[in-house]
Amino acid sequence: MASGSENFIHVGRAQRVSFGGGTLAMLDSELERLGSRHALLLTTGGQGDLASRVIAASGGRIARWHAGARMHTPVSATEAALAELRALQADALVSAGGGSATGLGKALALRTGLPHLSIPTTYAGSEMTPILGETVDGRKTTMRDPALLPATVIYDVELTLDLPAALSAASGMNAMAHAVEALYARDANPLTDLMAEEAARALAAALPAIVIDPRDREARWRALYGAWLAGTCLGTVGMALHHKLCHVLGGSFDLPHAQTHCIVLPYVVAYNAPAARPAMARLARALGDPDPAMALWAMVQRLGVPRALGELGMPASALEEVVRIADQNAYWNPRPADPAALTVLLRRAHEGSPPAS
Ligand code: NAD
Repeated sequence: MASGSENFIHVGRAQRVSFGGGTLAMLDSELERLGSRHALLLTTGGQGDLASRVIAASGGRIARWHAGARMHTPVSATEAALAELRALQADALVSAGGGSATGLGKALALRTGLPHLSIPTTYAGSEMTPILGETVDGRKTTMRDPALLPATVIYDVELTLDLPAALSAASGMNAMAHAVEALYARDANPLTDLMAEEAARALAAALPAIVIDPRDREARWRALYGAWLAGTCLGTVGMALHHKLCHVLGGSFDLPHAQTHCIVLPYVVAYNAPAARPAMARLARALGDPDPAMALWAMVQRLGVPRALGELGMPASALEEVVRIADQNAYWNPRPADPAALTVLLRRAHEGSPPAS
């Protein structure tokens, strides 16, 4: 419960969200609501089945499919899609897939002002944020702009059933990281606290069940629900040390996004725990374990995902460099960033050893 003595600010965002099973059937009417008759569909490569299902549900409102979305939104990929969009004179963007497809939709919406309808099929949460990370020549820059927020989001549990178990688990832990850092965010408020705790609870229940049976509809519903809440937190409050370290590991060392989040999270929770007691109490309640860092680490061991940065090909010799790069841009964290302690944190994450000191 909120303490009853604190002031806070909450910024709500205007966005239409349709959630459930079979909700893709609403695509035609949702595009009509946006005034679209001639939309461009965006996906990553190899998503032919997904594209067919989306096109079939659009009532003829999707004019073309562009499969050029890529991880970390390279500007070269955005420019290629922009040329196609202009030649087509598209009147809306429909992105379908994970954060990479959503990112391309955002990058094009920013450049054209066209409405963007997002159909997420992973748990990354980008569809709920006014944030975009773009890469030029391997350098990633992140921006915030209200124009980046998709106008409409259709969450359809049916579209997540084929997401492979290991990818589901890593992506779900990426969502868990949004929830965890929202709990101790400097600008957290009672509403984000509620959403973040509920997200952590839903994801912790769902992910082990999905790994056992990826077509477990109830677990899929719960994971997508947790991802929606966690994404909303990510779009509302500032993130801290965990997201900073993962940004450096992904941006400068090309490690895969969701898997990196999954590995690093328990170690950052252990680092921040002494400086974030109320957040840890909420997290402990959500995870059903008095030691959230160990509970998260134990969960990662069971999920069939990479468990150490070393497994992702990260050289041990570069860990101090990660800390140095992270330190170049000041960021807020509940516990001050101590370079020596952070190097130890990364060493443990590199080995995959338990997070407790
Ligand atoms: P992704 O979008 O690259 O998807 C990973 C792989 O899974 C791709 O090959 C994709 O084709 C496949 N896939 C997606 N859905 C599937 C499904 N249902 N069934 C089978 N295969 C499926 O990865 P991601 O982790 O979702 O997103 C990562 C990207 O999103 C990164 O670029 C990251 O920076 C960005 N991101 C941005 C924000 C934000 O707020 N701006 C938030 C989170 C992530």
